[in-house]
Parts: sequence; structure tokens; C-alpha cells
Amino acid sequence: MGLLCTRGEITQKFPCTNDTLFRASIKISANSLEDRNDIIILLQDEKQEFVLYESIAEKPIKVIFKGIHASTPKEYVKQELEVTTIIQFKNFKEQSLHSVFQVDIKRSAQAQQIFNITHLCHFKITVESPRRRNTATTCYKCAEFHHTAKNCHHNLRCIKCGKNHATRDCNIQENLPNPTCINCNSTGHTAAWKGCPAFSKFNTKQVNSSYANITKRNITQQYGNHTQPKEIAQDPFNLPSLNEVK
Ligand SMILES: [Zn+2]
Ligand SMILES: [Zn+2]
Ligand SMILES: [Zn+2]
Repeated sequence: MGLLCTRGEITQKFPCTNDTLFRASIKISANSLEDRNDIIILLQDEKQEFVLYESIAEKPIKVIFKGIHASTPKEYVKQELEVTTIIQFKNFKEQSLHSVFQVDIKRSAQAQQIFNITHLCHFKITVESPRRRNTATTCYKCAEFHHTAKNCHHNLRCIKCGKNHATRDCNIQENLPNPTCINCNSTGHTAAWKGCPAFSKFNTKQVNSSYANITKRNITQQYGNHTQPKEIAQDPFNLPSLNEVK
């Protein structure tokens, strides 16, 4: 069944859905979690490709704590707060930890109080919001931008040949000297490149100014090495609520 038939069926069965055009795709906002689940089943039954998105209400609040000594076990921080995920910035080259922690907490009316905390684990701390990540997310399943493989219900797409298999399973094993991008069809880069015109077409924000990049730059200046956050737990509240149909 074609996309338009499926969309017609969704509108008929779920008249309260709200459709908007979103990055050249149709974004379907369901009226309830129940409708959302039924729409997902319908899309899967009709073998449509789609991506799941989280609603703001379901996204956790992300907070950066500075000032807790780097040797403090993450579990101590986790014990003092009801956090779902905790990340400590790490210097991978020197295998050392930094005194910057990022936590996710479930969104609620009280959750904003976390910004008023002044002391944690017996340290005087500062609390900040992480800067928005403006760099592109590239899905390793379908190679498109702005979503992760976890939420992707697209077919697999190889960045070397564009066919429906994982890039690691491609017959082309060697690195191509002049690859053709499967997102924009131009040569000289692969679909994973953030400078791809297909990415900038839908991205209105400047790249390279995310919190992680700035922190990385600052810590690199300070310590002369690269750092990356290390995630230790999956967020159980990471429930997507919106569906995007290609
Ligand atoms: Zn994808
Ligand atoms: Zn291939
Ligand atoms: Zn491209």
C-alpha cells in the first residue's frame, strides 16, 4: 500500500492526529499514547518506513554539574538525586575523569528545582543546562540525518552503494577514493559527512557550537587531549511519541 493510502487510513482511523511538514517528511502527532502505539502498528503492518520522535513532555531534563571532584563515583551522585542517566566527561587518551557530570532526570513540575541545587556530594557546585547539540546526528541504519538508529524504522541503507544492507556487509570492502554521497548524490564525500548539502538544507543552526564541542575545546586547550562523555545507562523514559512518515 502506498504512503498516501496509509496516510488516508491514519487520518480516517485517528481523526485527532495533526500532520505537519517536517524536513520534507510528514510528521504525524498522535493525540494519545494509545493512538501513537496503534499508528505504529498500522505503519509496520503496511511496511512503511518511519522515524519515531519524542515529545517535549517525554524528554528528560538534562543538567550539567560542575565542581564535584572527578574521583567521586557516579553512583554517589546518582544516590543523591533521582537521575535516570549519568555521564561523566572523560579524557580517553589519558584515561582520566573530569569534574563535569551530565545527568538526565524525568521531566516533572518539581524537576526544575534541580537548577537550585548549590551543594552535591559535599561539594559546592554550579548547575547549567547543556547547550543544544547543533551538530548533525547521522543514523547508522539508514544514513539519514537528524535521528538515531534507535528510533529508525527505515530500511538499512549502505553509505557506500546505497543498497539495502548495512555498510559493513557491503561487497565494496575498500575505502572509496571518490565516493558518491547517497544523501545528495554528489561525489567526494559519504553520507556520514556533516558538510553534506543534504544536511545543511534542513539545518538552520550553526554547527560546532554544542556544549560538548565547547567543553571539548576548553578541556583540550587545558589538557591538550580529546574528551567525550561516557554514557553508563539507558534512559528508561526515552519514549518517543511522534511519528514521521517518509
Ligand atoms: Zn535512520
Ligand atoms: Zn553496499
Ligand atoms: Zn552529500
